[in-house]
Amino acid sequence: MIRGSCLCGVIEYEVEPIAGKIFNCHCSQCRKSHGAAFATQAFAKGKTLKFIKGEEFLKEYSGHGGVRAFCSVCGSRLMNYAPDKGLYLSVALSCVDGDENGEAYMDGPVAHAFVASKAAWHMPSDDIPSYPGIPLD
Ligand SMILES: [Zn+2]
Ligand SMILES: [Zn+2]
Repeated sequence: MIRGSCLCGVIEYEVEPIAGKIFNCHCSQCRKSHGAAFATQAFAKGKTLKFIKGEEFLKEYSGHGGVRAFCSVCGSRLMNYAPDKGLYLSVALSCVDGDENGEAYMDGPVAHAFVASKAAWHMPSDDIPSYPGIPLD
C-alpha cells in the first residue's frame, strides 16, 4: 500500500499500487488539470482505494472519459478514475507520502506517455522512453 495526502492535509488515502506502472503523462488534459508540463501518475488497483480521512472534501471533475478528483480546500490534484471507480485508477505521485510503514516510496516513472500532445516548450531530457500514447504492455 501507498499513502497520499493533499497540500492542506484534510484528505489522506491509501491504495495498492501496480508495480512498474508509473508514467509521466503529457496529454493536454493532465497538463491543464495539474497546471504543469506533465503529471506523474502511478497506476493502482481501483478497488483498494480507501480514504483515511477527508473523503467529504474530495471534489470531482468529470469529462474527457474519466473523473479527475481534487481537494476542494487546497486544490491538490489527487487521482483519476473511471466513473464506476473500476479496475484501476491512477494517483498523482507527487501527493504520495510513502508506503504504509511511513517509508519513502522510491518507485518513479518508467516512461513518458502521450508525448504526441506534449507542451511545445517542454523537452523531456531524461533517458526513460517516450510513447505517443500510453504504453500498453
Ligand atoms: Zn487539501
Ligand atoms: Zn494525461
